[in-house]
Amino acid sequence: MQSDKDMGSKWIPPAVVDTEPVVKISKRGNRYTMWTESWFKSQVRGNLRQLFMQWPRRKEVLDAVRLEEWPPTQAGKPRKRPVVWYICSECGAKCKTAENKHNHPIIEVDHIDPVGKLDSTPGGLIEFINRLFCDPKNLRAVCRPCHRQKTRSDRASMKETWR
Ligand SMILES: [Zn+2]
Repeated sequence: MQSDKDMGSKWIPPAVVDTEPVVKISKRGNRYTMWTESWFKSQVRGNLRQLFMQWPRRKEVLDAVRLEEWPPTQAGKPRKRPVVWYICSECGAKCKTAENKHNHPIIEVDHIDPVGKLDSTPGGLIEFINRLFCDPKNLRAVCRPCHRQKTRSDRASMKETWR
């Protein structure tokens, strides 16, 4: 019987598994190895997550919690552009989409039914993709602290169900 780990990795092409690993030195001077199975999986996972970040359906989830404010400027003049916030669906915090000098929390998109890890998803890559690009009803905008907490509790319960 195959373990979950084997099931999760069955989608790696045999030609990739047979590829001789290539050792590289990063710009920071760290040694890393390309074309190992774990390297290949992390590249696929990272690129799929990047693709998700660009998904218009993901943007719709953010737009649904978008809030525009028009406070006077520091000089007391009317604004040309609104101050834009994204409201966390969990705690109500006012967030931005990127890091900024005022340290406002960052808004992220949470999978209510979690995507899980590529390595341990029973259906391997196909199931992982289907879980990542899910029905938008399964997505919600939350601040990074709430998202991290949710991910931690998802991981804890996943260990229970997929052991
Ligand atoms: Zn929050």
